Amino acid sequence: MADIQGSYDDLFTAVPTALAASLDAGDAGAAVAVFVGGEPVVDVWGGFADAERTVPWQRDTIVNVWSVTKTMTALCALVLADRGELDPAAPVARYWPEFAAAGKEAVLVRHLLAHTAGLPDWDGPVDDLYDWPSATARLAGQAPQWEPGSAAGYAAPAAKAPLERTTIERRAVGEFDVLIDIKFAGICHSDIHQAREGWGEAIFPMVPGHEIAGVVSEVGPGVTKFAVGDRVGVGCMVDSCRECDNCKAGLEQYCTGGGMTGTYNALDKNGEPTYGGYSQKIVVDENYVVRIPDGLALDVAAPLLCAGITTYSPLKHWNAGPGKKVAIVGMGGLGHMGVKIAHALGAEVTVLSQSLRKKDDGLKLGADHYYATSDPETFTKLAGTFDLILSTVSAPLSLDAYLSLLKTDGAFVNVGAPEEPVALNLFSVIGGRKTLAGSGIGGIQETQEMLDFCAEHGFGAEIELIGATEINEAYERVLGSDVRYRFVIDTATI
Ligand SMILES: [Zn+2]
Ligand SMILES: [Zn+2]
Repeated sequence: MADIQGSYDDLFTAVPTALAASLDAGDAGAAVAVFVGGEPVVDVWGGFADAERTVPWQRDTIVNVWSVTKTMTALCALVLADRGELDPAAPVARYWPEFAAAGKEAVLVRHLLAHTAGLPDWDGPVDDLYDWPSATARLAGQAPQWEPGSAAGYAAPAAKAPLERTTIERRAVGEFDVLIDIKFAGICHSDIHQAREGWGEAIFPMVPGHEIAGVVSEVGPGVTKFAVGDRVGVGCMVDSCRECDNCKAGLEQYCTGGGMTGTYNALDKNGEPTYGGYSQKIVVDENYVVRIPDGLALDVAAPLLCAGITTYSPLKHWNAGPGKKVAIVGMGGLGHMGVKIAHALGAEVTVLSQSLRKKDDGLKLGADHYYATSDPETFTKLAGTFDLILSTVSAPLSLDAYLSLLKTDGAFVNVGAPEEPVALNLFSVIGGRKTLAGSGIGGIQETQEMLDFCAEHGFGAEIELIGATEINEAYERVLGSDVRYRFVIDTATI
């Protein structure tokens, strides 16, 4: 434990210096005892990597304060209390300028201020405590209001760089916009492809995330489809031309009028970069927002916005259903949704996975059969079997081998996108009049239909919920196929 002596004003440099030294030394945490005028003022201690979100508070001790910034905000509250300068209605930045740039830390200190000033205890969900504008408004007894321009997010500052916490700009809510408080964001393999420029040059800083589930917190005056409090989702696109034949036909994902605007790693109509779901707020035109049915929990719904629709759309288009034999290649984020959806559509479902490691899961999720593609016998045994093969893997496959598994007129459809071109012997499609095709996500209306379908059948994705600090590690695990079956970020931890 470091003992720090000094005046209040000294503390604001001395305490972070002491804590930073512990961090630099690789300590798991630090304890600091603060004395002013020889009198003990406060003990601060905590684990730096601890993602505990509750902060049991007492006058002289702060437990589980898990970063230098948060420690400082908490300390600041106590010092101000001692100075008799508490004013819960005043902007927190008045007390410490860095608060202005540290949204959720400011909420923490406001929370402590409220305690210290004898205001009623926080009565909302703990997660909401970190939503600075609404929490402070609530503490002050006002309706929450959002100031455009700031939202906490996790961004890759450059290609292949680890993601880190940042503050991003969100546009003001326009006439047809909804402001969404993001609650959960799924991690899609394509987030990694893009953050690492595997699919070509990308826009940085990049806030990935196109599997977004949240709650509407504000609507523009022209919005007719959504109201504050609605549970909603946003998938891979946030705009398109709206005028081309594809857009008019509900195939906005194939917009020919300049292409759809990606939820991130794209430029919007004003030339501003779009930022995705690893964030606490997003502003989206209502026409690119879908409703999450009541029966679906938001965390398991989030991955449906990409993994769900990406498999649902081709399964519907190529008529997966009763009497049809459908193979799903790959048992990852997309694959496990493919299994669930194909099964719910009534098809006979086979999983073709590299190994039998996830066989039990596959059968539980609705597969009727499960084969390892590492076993060459699989390809002899299943030759000419399937009406439809949906490949969800983004590693290059031997297309000729997979096409041999199709019946006459069968279709092999790719939804996974390898970074390199793949080889094909065209005789593989000539014999048996086979189709080799691709499919990308789905239109807005179809995405809504998919969500309703999943809710009706009572399933979402299988997820592993993580905190924002685990994103980089999760990326490595996705690349190692070590996730069952989708990482979902609890955005309250950002
Ligand atoms: Zn995706
Ligand atoms: Zn269009």
